[in-house]
Amino acid sequence: MIIGIDLGTTNSLAAIWRDGRPQLIPNSLGEYLTPSVVSLDDDGTVLVGRAAQERLISHPQRTASCFKREIGTDKTYTLGGRTFTPEELSALVLRQLREDAEAWLGEPVTEAVVSVPAYFAQAQRAATKRAGALAGLLVERLVNEPSAAAVSARIGEGGVDKLCLVFDFGGGTLDVSLVERFENVVSVTAVSGDNRLGGRDFDMAIVRGFCDDCGLDYEALNQQQREMLLRQAESCKIALTAQRSVLMVYTDSEGGYHALPLTNEWLIRKSSPLFKRLTTPIRKVLVDSGTPAFAVDELVMVGGSSRMPAVRGYIAKSLGREISDGSQADTAVALGAGICAGMKARAEGLRELVLTDVCPFTLGISICNHNVPSQPVMSPIIERNSVLPTSKMGVYCTVRDNQTVLDVDVYQGENRYCKDNMLLGSLKISVPPAPKGQQSIQVRFTYDINGILEVEVLSEGDKTSRLLLKNDGVSDSEAQRRIEELAGLKLHPRDQERTRAISARGERLYAVTVGDLRRRIGEMLEWFGRQIESQEPMRVAKAARRITDFFDQVEAFTGEIDVSDPDDWESL
Ligand code: ADP
Ligand code: MG
Repeated sequence: MIIGIDLGTTNSLAAIWRDGRPQLIPNSLGEYLTPSVVSLDDDGTVLVGRAAQERLISHPQRTASCFKREIGTDKTYTLGGRTFTPEELSALVLRQLREDAEAWLGEPVTEAVVSVPAYFAQAQRAATKRAGALAGLLVERLVNEPSAAAVSARIGEGGVDKLCLVFDFGGGTLDVSLVERFENVVSVTAVSGDNRLGGRDFDMAIVRGFCDDCGLDYEALNQQQREMLLRQAESCKIALTAQRSVLMVYTDSEGGYHALPLTNEWLIRKSSPLFKRLTTPIRKVLVDSGTPAFAVDELVMVGGSSRMPAVRGYIAKSLGREISDGSQADTAVALGAGICAGMKARAEGLRELVLTDVCPFTLGISICNHNVPSQPVMSPIIERNSVLPTSKMGVYCTVRDNQTVLDVDVYQGENRYCKDNMLLGSLKISVPPAPKGQQSIQVRFTYDINGILEVEVLSEGDKTSRLLLKNDGVSDSEAQRRIEELAGLKLHPRDQERTRAISARGERLYAVTVGDLRRRIGEMLEWFGRQIESQEPMRVAKAARRITDFFDQVEAFTGEIDVSDPDDWESL
């Protein structure tokens, strides 16, 4: 079985093509969005998703988030004394999604089409594929996030040819792409963005605004208090998508109570510098691609932050156009990946659809630099932004008399000197001795949509040498060793996911409260632990409902909190 996965910086989702349409796959909590957060529990098991997200506050040293930003780099994360690469953390998220999908589908899932930002370079794409392999998923096909969003919009509409501006505004980044849908072909034609602008910045602006208006000194708050305020701010921001105003409340460490009603107008006032930055990348893609704004047929707004009425309003006004409804904002990419999974499986109804991509970097070979012979330069064969799949040829000749060997060193990158680019592989070609410049070879690069580069060299004797580069950069034995290492880490048992998420939430609340309330939360957690130990499903379910209500009250902090003795509840 093959599924589509939107492996997001903030949230990840899975979808599948079934019964002629893409369908989202719920996780073990019955939710579509799985936070891309990994935490190592005290007993060494791995928590992924909501439970892990709660632990960002209570166990920051054992929890990691936003690692997608670092994928393909050497950065490592240490959780509870164990070191992980961003790729391995991504693998743990993918593995969780795979297991949830298997449980939901009732059959093994062996393959996935994973979406990645259009600007992801080769190293990031290769790392994403390796993360798939580490999670037991074959990832042959990656799809650009904006293409996926455009594909799902296209299916929704029965396929009209269009030029779409895809505005993907997530938790930490804004990605803007121009995507062309022509007949059955969908292709990205230009990309731009701001990788320091996302929903998180609005949360921060709300926190700052709240502190200003309530006379709190933000700088004097500790990390936990800041995190607590950020969470409050995020829930208020989300509430403001559906309602006109919301009360934001906060209890400081001395027990002082602060409350402030927030509205969208207030939010706009407090975050006006952020709004101005929303249109910069839009202007850039239009200018880069030479597209006048009026030529854009449709504005597709995706990503959780595109749900914000203030953001929608601002974009609609700046571009002077209507925007489609935001109901699919945070699922469009996953649904598109699900459609691509269907395409890969050659499902009925999708056979004609073709997706093209652009090559995000330049590929070429090294050639002799006559001015500085010790510094070979790169001769581009496939240029950046070429539409894929593509096949291009270059002709090269000998530079010395009686030269019998030509080295074909394949590089990727945008720099003039080879040493500044990445070496992907090498071929040695023998040629008969002759005066310099008289022996030539033809080098053909074929780059397919799955990121596999084939290099063919035709020398004069009609002899063809071939080099197949998958660009994964890891040997089979190394890959095998890492798969085994990661397999040794157990995911938290599925049937306990829900109770674990509840306990993690309690631990977070415990960490951010003080005094009586904190003591109560501690007691509630112990009580809940005892219910779980009873292993009586009904009792655990009831207890879960009770304690969730209690936590909801703690968080809302409006009205009286029911802190009656939890031990009395056991008789309920
Ligand atoms: P990513 O692609 O980065 O993983 P998402 O597209 O899932 O991110 O978006 C996550 C962001 O969207 C978070 O900052 C979250 O607060 C925000 N968000 C989600 N739902 C809403 C909503 N209803 N209103 C406003 N913001 C929202
Ligand atoms: Mg996203």
